Order: sequence, then structure tokens, then C-alpha cells
Amino acid sequence: MSSDAPIRSSEDLHRVPEPEPLPHGKRFATKAKTDVPSVVDLLGLDLQGLEDLLVDMGEKKFRAKQLQQWLHDKRVASVDDMSNLSKALRDKLKQQAALLHPTIEDVQQSVDGTRKYQLKTFDGHVIEAVYLPNVSGEGKHALCISSQVGCALGCTFCATASLKLTRHLLPGEIVGQLYTVMRDLEAEGLAPTSDVGKAKRSVTRLVYMGMGEPLHNYEGVVASIRQFTGEHGVGLAPHRITVSTSGMVPAIARLGVDTTVQIAISLNGSHDEGRAEVMPVNKRWNLDALLGALKAFPLKARRRITFEYVLLEGVNDSDDDARRVVRLLEPFRCRLNLIPYNAHPLSPFKRPSEERVHAFQRIVKAGGLDAFIRTTRGDDIDAACGMLGAKKLEAARQEQRGLPVVE
Ligand code: SF4
Repeated sequence: MSSDAPIRSSEDLHRVPEPEPLPHGKRFATKAKTDVPSVVDLLGLDLQGLEDLLVDMGEKKFRAKQLQQWLHDKRVASVDDMSNLSKALRDKLKQQAALLHPTIEDVQQSVDGTRKYQLKTFDGHVIEAVYLPNVSGEGKHALCISSQVGCALGCTFCATASLKLTRHLLPGEIVGQLYTVMRDLEAEGLAPTSDVGKAKRSVTRLVYMGMGEPLHNYEGVVASIRQFTGEHGVGLAPHRITVSTSGMVPAIARLGVDTTVQIAISLNGSHDEGRAEVMPVNKRWNLDALLGALKAFPLKARRRITFEYVLLEGVNDSDDDARRVVRLLEPFRCRLNLIPYNAHPLSPFKRPSEERVHAFQRIVKAGGLDAFIRTTRGDDIDAACGMLGAKKLEAARQEQRGLPVVE
């Protein structure tokens, strides 16, 4: 997503231009157009980009392949670890480019194996990633990653929204979340293996559902998807990657052209007025616009759109809401994930009772929808994707502002 001015609030969405086309096969942009410090992002560069960089440095092009292996196959944490490159080249790389793996600030491990990572970017911002082993069966391990520092979308039920948007993450910072977590799992002896595909993998699925609205950082996210699905590195099939959006309509259409990843939509409301109350993005792109874009989305055979519906007591969880959801989603090949709200002390919203959640599910199922109540993982560590515990967020915000942290 390109924008000359930083986006800091949901009101700013009204002046956000539509995402610009991402050039196919060209080198990735190396300079963010947000207020991120200008750096050459090694992990965000494709082969052509690495070749251009090397030529700019007076080096031979062929070294780009070696670089790719170090960056994405071996996933080294430092340029100094690239042992078959000359010291002179390593020094040049360190001076002119950067490896933007975020570093681990804190890890919390749930009794169910979920690991929540608080990560720090190279310029000191806190983001999150959540590792979910055996997420939908044995051997299927997901990582939920962030796409922005904070978020501009202002969903009223979301703890991340209180941070506002600081900046988009660069492609290498998105890719680096996976690599940092993989290194940690290996170091801790926690890297389970998988038979999915030829390679043994500790992460078999990626979901862009952490901090930020992925389609607001369109260029960064698509560039990172190309790294995840490329010849080098983890080589994930596109259908093992899910991009979750609150409904940035113009970018939905582009995503269907530029990638073949799975798409998930945060629905969270059954009519415009109610949805706009909890998701201000609905004032810019209402349900008609959103569902229209989804009808035009080039959904592959045997794929389904996932709709996420956070159930908020007394807000969107009535029988009427359920019946309206059925009507809205009737035209789609889809699944509906019902997510009872993960309440936190600073939120005015409450989780509906179990009976209410099941009543809602009964109605939507009777209406023909494939509806699942999503089991909450990592309850004991507040690990819901996109919802770092409010207390942690407040602490992170205060730290970022240089304020003392009140426990
Ligand atoms: S739910 Fe997602 S889009 Fe909405 S404020 Fe939170 S992080 Fe942003």
C-alpha cells in the first residue's frame, strides 16, 4: 500500500488511495513509502533485486543465488554467518543493506503448546506472532504473523486498534517473523516435523491475522507472500497461506490477481449499521461493496472463502443476526468460523454464553452454512491472533513512548 502520508487513524482511511499495482517479476521496492527508516531490505528482495544490489556494489551477479540460499534456505540470523562470502562483501552488505529479522522480546507458552511471541523490529517497535502447533490435526502447524505495527482500522473490539498505526512492516520484517520463530523452535527442541510436501517443516500454514490489516500494507504483504511461496526458502503452497482482511475492497480484487492465497474476511456484523459500529471500515466499504468484491474474487476450484465472526454479547449474537448472516453468505462457497469474544479488562464487550453461541451456530447451520465454533487456543496466555492482551499492549505502548510501565 503506498501512501505519502502515514496513516494514523481510521478517519485517515478516507484519504487512503487504492493499492497500486505490484509489478510482476520486478525487484521489490526496497524503500518503504511510510515513515519507516529507509533501509535496503535483504529478505524482501527477489533474485532480480539481489542481483541489482550486488551490481550496484560492484559485485558479480551470480552471488545473488548464494545470497538467496543464505537468506531463505539456511535462514541465517546475521550477514556474518554467510561463511562462503568474502569478508569484504559481507562488510559491504552490512553497510548498505539490512537483515530485518525481528528479535524475540518475550515468549509465552500455553499448556496447549501455543507459543505467543512478542517481537521487536529493528527500530524498536513491538509486534506479535503466535505459533499454533497441531492446529487442525496432527502435523499441521500454523503461525499467525503481523503485517503492521499497530493498526489504523479501529475495530472497537480489538486490542491492537488501541495502538493506532505506527507503520507498515517491510516484506523482510514479515518474512523474518517466520524465520525467527523457526530458529527459536529449533533451538528449544520444539520443532515438530511434518510430512506435508517433501520438506519436513515446523510451520505448515501461515495466517496474516496478527497485528495490522494485511491489505492496508498491500505491497509489503504480497512481496512477503512471494518469498514464502518462492523457489527458495520454506516453499509453502499458496493454499497454505491465508490473508485475513477486515474488508479493504479494492485490495481484495488485486489480491485475487496477484496471488492465489486463501482469503478470510472478518465479518462480525449482520447489517451495515451494526457492522460499522464495531468495524469503522464498513463506513468506507459497506457490506454490499464487500460482498460484491467477494463475488468477483477468482476463487479456485475446491476452495472456500472463510468468514470470521467474532460473537459479542448483545451486539451481534442474536437469532436475527444469525438469520441475516445466512442470507448474506448464501451466495458463497464458504465456511463460517464463530469466535466467542476473548474479553479483556479494558474492553466494554463481553463473551456470549455458551448456550447463545450454540444457538447462533444452530441457526446458521440450519440455514445451510458450514459453521464452526473456533476452539480458543492459548487461553491461559491471551494468544488470540490480532489481540495481544490489552495490558501487554498498553505496556508496549508506554515503552514505545518512553513512559514507565505500570504493572
Ligand atoms: S481486528 Fe484487525 S483490522 Fe481490526 S483493528 Fe484489529 S488488527 Fe486492525
